[in-house]
Amino acid sequence: METDHIQGSVLVVDDEPFVLKTIAHVLDGMGFTRVLTAMTGQQALRLIESTKPSVELVMLDLNMPDMDGIELLRRFAEEGYRGDILLFSAEDSQTLKMAERLARARRLSVIGSISKPIRREALYHVISKHSGPPGSPARRADAPEITPQMLEVGMECGELEPWFQPKIDIASRQPVGVEMLARWPNSTRGPIYPDVFIPVAERSGLIDRLTFCLITRSIHMRQQWQASGVNLKLAANISMDSLRNLDFPQRLDDIVTAAGGSLSTMQLEVTESRLMQDLVTPLDVLLRLRLKKVRLSIDDFGTGYSNLFQLRDLPFDELKLDRSYVRGRDPRAVAILESSVEMGKRLGMGIVAEGVETLEEWQRVERLGCDQVQGWLCARAMPGDAIPDWVASWSESSKDVLG
Ligand code: C2E
Ligand code: CA
Ligand code: CA
Repeated sequence: METDHIQGSVLVVDDEPFVLKTIAHVLDGMGFTRVLTAMTGQQALRLIESTKPSVELVMLDLNMPDMDGIELLRRFAEEGYRGDILLFSAEDSQTLKMAERLARARRLSVIGSISKPIRREALYHVISKHSGPPGSPARRADAPEITPQMLEVGMECGELEPWFQPKIDIASRQPVGVEMLARWPNSTRGPIYPDVFIPVAERSGLIDRLTFCLITRSIHMRQQWQASGVNLKLAANISMDSLRNLDFPQRLDDIVTAAGGSLSTMQLEVTESRLMQDLVTPLDVLLRLRLKKVRLSIDDFGTGYSNLFQLRDLPFDELKLDRSYVRGRDPRAVAILESSVEMGKRLGMGIVAEGVETLEEWQRVERLGCDQVQGWLCARAMPGDAIPDWVASWSESSKDVLG
């Protein structure tokens, strides 16, 4: 990975200088802007208090003289540390799991644990799996106010970048594609997520420029993957606003061709709830995209005002079930999940289950007959240059993850 992908500081706490040095070296190579180290719990607490921008991730050894890892976790909770924690230890995995549970019970955000000696790949896997949205609403609430001018500068300077989340085929367990998700690393406040800046881009008429700029970069990225033998279909999210312009298909075609790509290897994801308004123009645009052999996907299916009738008229190839249906806790959600899969299949659509976080959820959507899975169980969104390594490690790690 290149530098400047993972913004923010990481702090490694271990009493062994050699371990500190080795881990710091690996983290440096992964692109953390700042890697701090501490040999005692006291030092760690001081660094957390004084570091600005705040420490995003603490890697912590459970076994330390003086203040051990468990005590330090308690202190983190007392001091209100809000970043993520990755535990490691030479103790058995049972002990590590218990420490994880204890930390979560204290409302700390634990992203995982690794046994010592730490293998580079294991570290890499846990961190890149995690490098999507931290999921903590508190942090999203910290997001800065974005103006259209800031967005324009962000695009011009190439700060806005596409990250990628793999889509896994259930039958073969192989990655078959990636969804491009916009990320805006920000050195002072931590990354800004699309929920924050996409609406600004839509309101200010910048959304097409943003889409095209990210698609161009993704196509170049895909060419790099292909050079290392990785062939994945690319899916991009398309705002409903883009479908209101009749010239969108041709402009998209031009951009993709100029980047050396082909529309036939692309998939566009459109959110169903917003297809509600004026249907004629979007239908025109979608049909023309279809004629250009783009695969179309209906996103977040089951949220907002579900308009099933549109499925009859709109040329979708794929249905993406919103993650709220994948959890399976509420019997009504289960009923909707089951009938959506059934209906999608009868209409000849591929079905993707989004937001699969646990093996139990994977097994449920597999039983129901979904074709693909996307979710943190398999991988979070990651920078493009992490994809080939992730694909290489997946053939091994999938056995652990999926049994
Ligand atoms: P989406 O298209 O539904 O994308 C899936 C979102 O769920 C992503 O959030 C992804 O990181 C997150 N996610 C994936 N797996 C899991 C999981 O297992 N559990 C949980 N809790 N979440 C998971 P993200 O990247 O923050 O994107 C949010 C939304 O922003 C996207 O929702 C999409 O609608 C929009 N978006 C992202 N990039 C673009 C873009 O380039 N253009 C447009 N128009 N919209 C974008
Ligand atoms: Ca999507
Ligand atoms: Ca979705």
